[in-house]
Amino acid sequence: MKTTLLQAVESDLIRPWYRLRFSPAVETRFEADTSTRRSYHLLIAGIVALVIYDLYIFNDTVFRPEVLHTAAWIRFGLMTPYGIVAFYFLHRGLSPAARETLMASTLVVAMLLSCTIFFVSDSPYSFLDTFSFGLILLVGNVFYSLRFPYAIATSLISTVLMAAFVFPYPHMDFEVKLYTILVFLSTGVFTLLANYRLEASERQSYLLLLREQLRTNAALDDNQALTKISITDPLPGVANRRHFDSALIQRWNEAMTERTMLGMLVIDIDCFKNYNDRYGHLQGDACLRQVALEIQRHVRQEDDLVVRYGGEEFVVLLPKASTTTALQAAERIRQGIEALAIPNEGVPHTSVVTVSIGIAVIQPATDLAPSALLLRADEALYQAKREGRNRSVLAPLQDDPMPT
Ligand code: GH3
Ligand code: MG
Ligand code: MG
Repeated sequence: MKTTLLQAVESDLIRPWYRLRFSPAVETRFEADTSTRRSYHLLIAGIVALVIYDLYIFNDTVFRPEVLHTAAWIRFGLMTPYGIVAFYFLHRGLSPAARETLMASTLVVAMLLSCTIFFVSDSPYSFLDTFSFGLILLVGNVFYSLRFPYAIATSLISTVLMAAFVFPYPHMDFEVKLYTILVFLSTGVFTLLANYRLEASERQSYLLLLREQLRTNAALDDNQALTKISITDPLPGVANRRHFDSALIQRWNEAMTERTMLGMLVIDIDCFKNYNDRYGHLQGDACLRQVALEIQRHVRQEDDLVVRYGGEEFVVLLPKASTTTALQAAERIRQGIEALAIPNEGVPHTSVVTVSIGIAVIQPATDLAPSALLLRADEALYQAKREGRNRSVLAPLQDDPMPT
């Protein structure tokens, strides 16, 4: 999923220069990532634009006092409520298309109302206003930075509206009409070019950022997967020796800090050479898997750690153990494996697969090395083997002398 998005981002980065939109998956992500910030920007920009629009009432007072009443009604009775309703919906959240259409509509309405105010007046300087109509284009194309297609549509509609009001206006010379429309058109062209560049660079920076983010995430995922592989044995759910070495030190230190006992079981399959010789290595591997699963069934999933220590030898680390709980765990495992009743014919003491378990429980201390725990459990295992296999033997407590 992430890789697909990354591929889409890579190909969007080399899309033709005239294509602003991204491929659908990236476009959706772009909207999801930027829409809150964009709506907020549009809201603030909209409020500022509306306040300035209303402040043009001073212009009406100076240049066309005879229609001041109409102008005030248009600004405060029509434009302001329209703007407020639009901002309310914008604040509530809209789809990208609805958001851009709504903001574009505020500009078209502003244009229509401005043209009306200018048109209803016959004051000598009322027409001067037409030179400031370009400000509406500036607001839409640069200040709002409407998405490019909406900016083009707004600019075209505004141009048509302006022409429709300016040409029939009786108190203005034809040459002046042409000139004001030319100014308006050139403002439109410049601001549209600026709008295109703004959107293109916003989108380009977004793509580069997203690519970095996706690459970093993919690298982290790979890293996690590699770490997991590097500490896991091919047997299902069992840690390997590498993980055991670091886990032993970690649990040892934790036990020392928390003043708890640390337990260890060393489990060795009895007469496994015989099993391999009789049933073959593949069957031997299957048997190892069954034994590994059985061991895991009898330990605490959260706290205990099952490790494949060597070929047919497992170690279980038991934090916060006592001799009783460690013995109980060992016996559960030993009996569980015996109960699997995996045939192992040709062995003197039994006809099924069994294990011998050495148990050691230690209170970790600074004058002891973690290897002491392994050493004691290993000694106990060999005692279990000596005593006839298929049994658990607890190593003497740490203050007692080691068996010789
Ligand atoms: P004991 O009761 O004294 O432990 O006898 P044993 O036969 O189990 O001991 P030994 O160490 O002599 O033999 C262990 C055998 O385990 C040797 C090897 O064939 C087998 N073995 C070790 N790793 C694997 C493995 O990954 N797959 C299989 N199939 N066999 C393995
Ligand atoms: Mg062995
Ligand atoms: Mg063995």
